[in-house]
Amino acid sequence: MPYSDFDTKKRFARLPALLLPWYAKNARDLPWRRDREPYHVWVSEIMLQQTRVEAVRGYYERFLQAFPTVRDLAEAPEETLLKLWEGLGYYSRARNLQKAAKLIVSQYGGEFPRDYNSVRALPGIGDYTAGAICSICFETSVAAVDGNVLRIAARIAEKDEPIDLPAVKKSVAQSLQEVYPAGHCGAFTQSLMELGACVCMPKVTKCDICPVREICLSHAHGTQATLPKKLPKREKRVEPRTVFLLECDGAYAIHRREGKGLLAGLWQFPNTEGQLSPSDALQAAESFGVKPIELLRETHKTHIFTHIRWEMVGYHIRCREKSEVFLWATPEELQSTYALPTAFRIFLGENT
Ligand code: SF4
Repeated sequence: MPYSDFDTKKRFARLPALLLPWYAKNARDLPWRRDREPYHVWVSEIMLQQTRVEAVRGYYERFLQAFPTVRDLAEAPEETLLKLWEGLGYYSRARNLQKAAKLIVSQYGGEFPRDYNSVRALPGIGDYTAGAICSICFETSVAAVDGNVLRIAARIAEKDEPIDLPAVKKSVAQSLQEVYPAGHCGAFTQSLMELGACVCMPKVTKCDICPVREICLSHAHGTQATLPKKLPKREKRVEPRTVFLLECDGAYAIHRREGKGLLAGLWQFPNTEGQLSPSDALQAAESFGVKPIELLRETHKTHIFTHIRWEMVGYHIRCREKSEVFLWATPEELQSTYALPTAFRIFLGENT
């Protein structure tokens, strides 16, 4: 196991004494740090996966205003939930939150479970999130290891095994777990997160103000910029698409995506694979039964998903007839009511 050697363990053992006083002085005031309510910590941790802290703030506050308790979330209409999640991406996170909320209500009477295995068994909760919730809310000594913690560990111990290997994650978790300080587990988890977010960042390392620099081998040898190592990234698949903004009497045609796969069940503008020419796009619009009058605008946009890149051309077409194949929504309704993923919403600004 790469992180189980004596030297690494000795370095990790010093982490609590170095990090806890630093965290007590330097922790940012974030809305989800104001209490240790598991529902709040859980929602914030799910939102923070793949999303920046600054982007999450507003979403977090609106979400808790709409659903102040687990029970409110469990009972929320899916449309309201997805609308609140709109723009955060990775919509399965929102659906899993609700699935888990329903389980918490049906199996635990609305009380968040307190033991690690029960938390880990909830939909959408992996090792990291379960570790974060249990250490922060219940003072359980279980490590929460995400990309931030792996990066810090690789630099402190100066290890070059790729951090995306499961064996590396397991080894870091085991070695850190041994040094979790009883009574300060939550603060320790958060101090590691804070170090990764503000001091030992992916491209910038503020070693001169880093509280753990005296135990950091990368700092001693000047190798911070070369660590951590990662496995080579899979190339994103490029998918050309055509998006239709069909407008009739100030309303736009939308319909639901299929219940499976990318952006499952969300609303979308009609779209098709491949990039059509303007004349082919008008012909396609005709086949939707909307009687196109004129092509108002052509726009080109790119949207990047985890493994796919959509290269899109959007055609804004004025139409004579509201085909019943679609639901017709005004720009105001698109803002207030329907969850339209960013991949489609990016066409709206210039066209409405
Ligand atoms: S000393 Fe530098 S490289 Fe080491 S943990 Fe701190 S910021 Fe990261």
